[in-house]
Amino acid sequence: MKVVILLGAPGAGKGTQAPLLANRLGVPIVATGDLFRSAVRDGTPLGLEARRYMDAGQLVPDDITVRLLLDRLGRADAHGGVVLDGFPRTAVQAAALDEALAERGERVSAAVLIDVPEDEVMRRMSGRWICRAAGHPYHAVFSPPHTPGVCDIDGSELYQRADDEPDTVRARMAQQLGALADVIAHYRTAGVLLSVDGLQGIDDVAAAIDAALVEAGLADAVESEDVR
Ligand code: ADP
Ligand code: ADP
Repeated sequence: MKVVILLGAPGAGKGTQAPLLANRLGVPIVATGDLFRSAVRDGTPLGLEARRYMDAGQLVPDDITVRLLLDRLGRADAHGGVVLDGFPRTAVQAAALDEALAERGERVSAAVLIDVPEDEVMRRMSGRWICRAAGHPYHAVFSPPHTPGVCDIDGSELYQRADDEPDTVRARMAQQLGALADVIAHYRTAGVLLSVDGLQGIDDVAAAIDAALVEAGLADAVESEDVR
């Protein structure tokens, strides 16, 4: 089972890199932010609870988040592995994941940190548009869709997230970066942390992630044009 985690500040490029990585490893993406947004859209009790935190830029409490994640990991399509985008975000969540995997005799294969300084992350968030159907991210300047307002991948409408408004982004950074540092430390100690420079174009970040996975023995080397 391949369990590869994408780590990075909000706006670092996790959602952008996740499809490339999932495609490369042949496993589905599990993104807790997307799972929460769809629960909010469906108006489920979990969605109503989560929304209060999301709108304030705060992390949803660990017990709710861990339940949501483990429920998703239990589905058949996740049995061969997953790319995790946006989970774990706290040391408690990281420990809960370790425990759930250990029960199956498995462990995290790699945690890939997309390292981006905070001022660049603010720039990226202010131009972010995501699609209604699957949360595919675009950027008004850095990664525009072929047709304005329409997702290249699934044709759904693009919108700007309410929590990407600058004040909420600042709150998110203030409240989430400390916990991210704990999660990074957790995987460094476990010896599975891989770090890539996120301050490059999207294709170069993808190539750097790929090279790191090959070096770690998690993917076979391929000609660069075959990577995507
Ligand atoms: P971003 O793309 O900005 O990093 P996400 O889409 O991953 O944000 O998450 C949006 C919001 O959903 C977060 O600000 C937080 O409120 C909630 N959330 C997502 N994943 C988690 C998690 N693992 N733990 C707690 N809250 C989470
Ligand atoms: P995260 O999932 O980590 O919150 P996203 O993948 O949604 O981040 O990226 C945040 C914004 O930055 C999006 O608008 C995306 O199009 C843009 N972006 C992602 N990677 C890069 C990059 N390497 N260079 C410039 N912009 C990027």
